[in-house]
Amino acid sequence: YTGKTGTELLTEKIKKIMVHEYVSIPIVVNESVSVYDAITTMFLEDVGTLFVVDDKGFLTGVLSRKDLLRASIGQQKLSAIPVHIIMTRMPNIAVCRKEDPLFQVAKLLIDRQIDGVPVVRDKASGLEVIGRITKTTITKAFVELVTDSDQHL
Ligand code: ADP
Repeated sequence: YTGKTGTELLTEKIKKIMVHEYVSIPIVVNESVSVYDAITTMFLEDVGTLFVVDDKGFLTGVLSRKDLLRASIGQQKLSAIPVHIIMTRMPNIAVCRKEDPLFQVAKLLIDRQIDGVPVVRDKASGLEVIGRITKTTITKAFVELVTDSDQHL
């Protein structure tokens, strides 16, 4: 018997959930694509956040639904505006890595008031996007925490 309380055991269990266990596929667009094409991609891929990369595939920005809505209420032609004009750009992008605890990412989403972050791999000349973690990911992990423990009843 460890002498640990139920809460301590639960906390330990939560802290052991790692990003790599829940990472999903990232949807990325090149920074030269138009706002129009980014909107199309967001619908077709059924995601709320797109990650923007340069020609070498390194992370340069993030596009949210509201970024695209904001750009759409102007008078401009959406097929003529490249997404790099309107995206949130590096170095202001919140990211995570495969080996980070998932709860740390949950805290990041709350602190920065964002819906998702790219999972990145560090390369000499930039960040390679290898996945994504979103609020949906955190909700899924939260639900599984309960359903997994129910199996032991
Ligand atoms: P929405 O804007 O649709 O509510 P978010 O809350 O995710 O979606 O985004 C809010 C703002 O934060 C947007 O301008 C977006 O570009 C930016 N943003 C989203 N994700 C990140 C991130 N991982 N790092 C930095 N900024 C981000």
